Amino acid sequence: MLAFVSGKNSLMIYNTLSKAKELFKPIEPGKAKIYTCGLTVNDYMHVGHARTYVFWDTVVRYLKYVGYNVFHVSNVTDVSVDERFMERTSELGISYQQLIEKFTWAYFKDREALGISRADVHPLVTQHIQEIIEFVEKLLEKGYAYEAQDGVYFSIGRFKDYGKLSGVVISALKAGASERVDLDEYDKAEAADFVLWKKALPDEPYWFSPWGKGRPGWHIECSTIAMKYLGQTIDIHGGGEEHIFPHHENEIAQSEALTGKPFANYWIHARHVFLNGKRMSKSKKNYILIEDAVNKYGAALLRLYLLTVHYRKRMNFDEQDILRLQTKLAGLKSAVHLAKSQLFQEEADMNTDEKKLLGAMQRAKETFANAMDNDFNTSIAVNAVLSLATHVNQHFLKARYIKKETAEALNRFLANAGTVLFGDLFEREVSASLDRGSQGLVDFLLLIRERLRKNGEYDLSDGIRKKLAEFGIEVQDTPTGPRYVAKSVH
Ligand SMILES: [Zn+2]
Repeated sequence: MLAFVSGKNSLMIYNTLSKAKELFKPIEPGKAKIYTCGLTVNDYMHVGHARTYVFWDTVVRYLKYVGYNVFHVSNVTDVSVDERFMERTSELGISYQQLIEKFTWAYFKDREALGISRADVHPLVTQHIQEIIEFVEKLLEKGYAYEAQDGVYFSIGRFKDYGKLSGVVISALKAGASERVDLDEYDKAEAADFVLWKKALPDEPYWFSPWGKGRPGWHIECSTIAMKYLGQTIDIHGGGEEHIFPHHENEIAQSEALTGKPFANYWIHARHVFLNGKRMSKSKKNYILIEDAVNKYGAALLRLYLLTVHYRKRMNFDEQDILRLQTKLAGLKSAVHLAKSQLFQEEADMNTDEKKLLGAMQRAKETFANAMDNDFNTSIAVNAVLSLATHVNQHFLKARYIKKETAEALNRFLANAGTVLFGDLFEREVSASLDRGSQGLVDFLLLIRERLRKNGEYDLSDGIRKKLAEFGIEVQDTPTGPRYVAKSVH
């Protein structure tokens, strides 16, 4: 039996394929099979990438939150060799393998910095060359592909549903073997037969194949890897909006030509981040690297900010908006800490204010689930959690204790919803607290500080506050006495 939090499966997903919101019905009840396109590891990630990957992490975590058994596969494109790629190897003075290794590590480091969990499998394309070759061979056997001088191509005219995802219309002229694209990325206007296997030019890295030395085209890797790990039809396939055409259109063509079955039931695409009015992108030299943004704003604040805009809306990166969120995040940390500390308090009677607090938590829980069920509306979900935090903090301006059950219920919701939104950063940064020994020591220091303040010895009392801040413990003075939030535990 599934333990769905809302008691029923009510998740609606906007499907790029049908261009409508649909009720999520997994192939196998209780299981969700997800494939997301991973990074082409030829450079550092920027905040535009961060939005997409943080969103996927939130989707996976929400599916788990409502009780799904999730299997998530996300490839690592470690074979892409375009001009930019070759330029970078000479720029950095390193080999192709060194470049790939460098940026693969950087990719996982950035993901971890943002609290993104590992997928169940992160297959490297270079480890699946044999499967890719077999896939291409089958497409040749079925007559969907043909060999040309510079590679093996997929014949889009042979696949009657070509264009069903992106709406691209192929002209009769372009459907023939006379029109081909050997590029991995191209515009809708260039829709034509696309490359499955590229024959290598001198000095390019290559693998052996029945068609000579070469390497796979970009699109074939995702079809091959998704099918190997998730089966012929998967539940959810996701990527950025730039993937809709040609990448995902071509994935559908190859996969469905091979199996005759739908490749993915739900297609989800996250929209771009804009900076100074233009799309954040490496090629346009308009970007902020994840590492720089994390150093400047902190990972938890950055991640929270990225979730404040619904994934199907374009996001304009605005520092003022990030800074405005700072106090809200501090409020959330304080609320999480308060709810946690109350677990150790003695039983108390539940007064009207505490009943109101419980009511607010129940409403936040419902708002959170309804928002996420409504096509992953993280914007509303984030607000629900932050508003509850404000309520908790206000409650403790008057009250010193809450009942253990209230504290436990609050803790449970804040931790569960917090983990969906912040991922691993919830434990690491938002709810980080001290061990019992350190807690006792801090309490003792705060007691001394209170005495010092009463005696007007402000130099010393401020010194204690500053020293604690150096250790990541922020002290706040409230009408009911001092409180502290531990920023991180190392
Ligand atoms: Zn892909």
